[in-house]
Parts: sequence; C-alpha cells; structure tokens
Amino acid sequence: MTANCIFCKIASGQIPSLRVFESDDAVAFLDIAPLAPGHILLIPKSHCSSLLEVSPEVLSRLTAHLPSLARAILSSTGATGLNVLQNSGESSGQAVFHLHFHLIPRVSDDGLGFRWNAGAYAAGEAESMQRRIRSSLAGH
Ligand code: AMP
Ligand code: ZN
Repeated sequence: MTANCIFCKIASGQIPSLRVFESDDAVAFLDIAPLAPGHILLIPKSHCSSLLEVSPEVLSRLTAHLPSLARAILSSTGATGLNVLQNSGESSGQAVFHLHFHLIPRVSDDGLGFRWNAGAYAAGEAESMQRRIRSSLAGH
C-alpha cells in the first residue's frame, strides 16, 4: 500500500468503489467517469505505478482476468466490442499512477475512438528505428 495512492485505497477498501470482480491479487471496479456505461478498471492489489514498472509475473496474473471481464462486459451491456486501454506516463494521459487497464465497451458509431493520425517513415527511418529498439531490448 502506497500512501496517497487512490487505487491502493480502493484495493484495500479504504475508499469505496463499485467492484465487479475481486481475486487474491486483483480488483475490477466501475470507472467513476465512464466513457461508456460498463467502463471498468482492472488493477493489481499491490502497488506499481505503470507498465514501465510492473514485473512480468504480476502483469501476467493481472491480464489473465481480461478475457472473462471482457465477456462479462459485453453480455451485460449489450456492447458488441471493447477497447482495452493502458496509459503509462503523463504524456499518455495517465492520471492515476497505480497500474490499471481500462475496459471500455463499444458499439458501432458510439462516437468514441482515437484520432488515429497514421504517419509514414522516410527512407531508412523504419530500419534505423528497428535497430534502436532491438539493441535496447538486447540491453545495449
Ligand atoms: P488514467 O487517465 O488512465 O490514469 O485513468 C484514470 C481513471 O481513473 C479515469 O478514467 C478516472 O475516471 C478513474 N478514477 C479516478 N478516481 C476514481 C475512483 N475513485 N473510482 C473509480 N474510478 C476512478
Ligand atoms: Zn497504489
């Protein structure tokens, strides 16, 4: 439990939430300001700030709950699809620095969505990017 972390307080029950799911190490609850009815957040009970900090073990236990939550959201809202969104870092829009996944129910023409301003690489840029990411993953 990290002091002043609102999602740690939700996980411990110190702050109320409308829970839809709970396990030993995870909680899912309704987002207080939903993008659509049934928008929920899935969090680990143990504190970590974002995807940039979480261990693979904690993440894999957490994400194992996504398929059943996704199916429950669709069958209980009438949505025909959903987006799973994970913001990591202030520039991504992250406002609460306790790792969470948004599950956002979708129907066609619901007006939600990203501005998907697809770009293009100049000659050689994609290969250079590929090299940088590969060498970062290789640890040098
Ligand atoms: P993010 O921008 O990815 O950090 O999203 C944080 C989300 O947490 C927002 O969608 C908020 O509406 C939601 N949120 C903040 N406080 C609460 C709360 N007390 N109960 C439920 N959802 C919350
Ligand atoms: Zn926390």
